Amino acid sequence: MHKRAAMAVLALVLSMSGSRPSAEGMQGRGGGQPESAWLLKPARVFDGESMHEAWVVLVRGARIEAVGPATNVSAPGATTIDLPGTTILPGLMDAHSHVLLHPYNETPWNDQVAHETLALRIARATVSLKATLDAGFTTIRDLGTEGAGYSDVGLKQAVQLGVIQGPRMLVTTRAIIATGTYGPKGYPAEWEVPQGAEEADGNNLIRVVRDQAGKGADWIKVYGDYRAGPRGETMPTFSQDEMNLIVATAKSIGRPVAVHASTPEGMRRAILAGAETIEHGDGGTPDVFKLMAERNVAFVPTVAAGDATSQYAGWKKGTDAEPAGIRRKRETFKMAMNAGVTIASGSDVGVFTHGDNARELEIMVAYGMKPVDAVKSATSVDAKVMHLETQVGRVATGLFADLIAVEGDPTADISALRKIKLVMKNGQRVK
Ligand SMILES: [Zn+2]
Repeated sequence: MHKRAAMAVLALVLSMSGSRPSAEGMQGRGGGQPESAWLLKPARVFDGESMHEAWVVLVRGARIEAVGPATNVSAPGATTIDLPGTTILPGLMDAHSHVLLHPYNETPWNDQVAHETLALRIARATVSLKATLDAGFTTIRDLGTEGAGYSDVGLKQAVQLGVIQGPRMLVTTRAIIATGTYGPKGYPAEWEVPQGAEEADGNNLIRVVRDQAGKGADWIKVYGDYRAGPRGETMPTFSQDEMNLIVATAKSIGRPVAVHASTPEGMRRAILAGAETIEHGDGGTPDVFKLMAERNVAFVPTVAAGDATSQYAGWKKGTDAEPAGIRRKRETFKMAMNAGVTIASGSDVGVFTHGDNARELEIMVAYGMKPVDAVKSATSVDAKVMHLETQVGRVATGLFADLIAVEGDPTADISALRKIKLVMKNGQRVK
């Protein structure tokens, strides 16, 4: 009986705070008290698709009760929050984060994975989650703990239970790599050095996919290529058969697969296997992007990551000429847009400072995306790609009240996303 009760609690905690009121939604309201209600009055509302001047949003409890022209929304008992000059939009989403990493110019990745204690990494992650939420990012898909085990599952629980403040989280636990292809490297071959992700090959992939899912992974994250070549060149890691096995195993237990891939062949194998998102894609070709569009595979370009690491390597942005890697990134980003690929917003934050997630949107705009499309990418598009579109990602009746207000109009000037006036998650004002 104890065990059954414990299982019920665990099931509640593990369920994404979506399909029913979760601990997060109930936090801050005593039992029996009336639900809080807020009438938000901005200058305009971007609902995830389009802009509406002079609309208001009524929030009751954890959800959006009504949205529309002020004259159409009656709000008995609601407390009005005047937000003149602002735009209300859905809480932003980041489809590629690493809350257990911190910027590589503070500590290189190798040293974080090999030398930092788990407690230090988790303590830092709690601060990073709060910074993410304060920056208006109310949902993240965290793509690998990079050596910090399954601690993303516990962090997600801590947020859901209200122990710490942070965004909604989809997690992947350890992520999967082919044996010998990842890091940290640089140790004698006789040493068994713990790696930044879980090694698996061949039929063992079935066991590892199921094990990670069983331990709490919402998505399966796989490295489809890496710097595995004889001179450290990026080369495909898993064979087509292995990739097919990973995706088929994950799919049959309801876990979509996200594949890190930068080479055309690594991307192609992931697409053919049925991966749902491709991360980075720096070496993508028109053919590969055409295939992605045909198979409805979303692209998470992580433009901010290369921008950050190039600067760590000495590039003086705005003064020096753009390094080759940045020029190529611009080109492949345009190629993907021209091919009509769904572009999801995910920054690889962790490589750079948590809370600076909007950098991805700013750089997508600098690389040629319209600001309105960048904002869509981080709201309604990301929600759909993450299978959360019935819960968040739009300002619509019935959805969870994950909302932000920013000064100005981010669909005209993306830098408005830096001027956060309000952050609400699950109907609770957190900033
Ligand atoms: Zn990453």
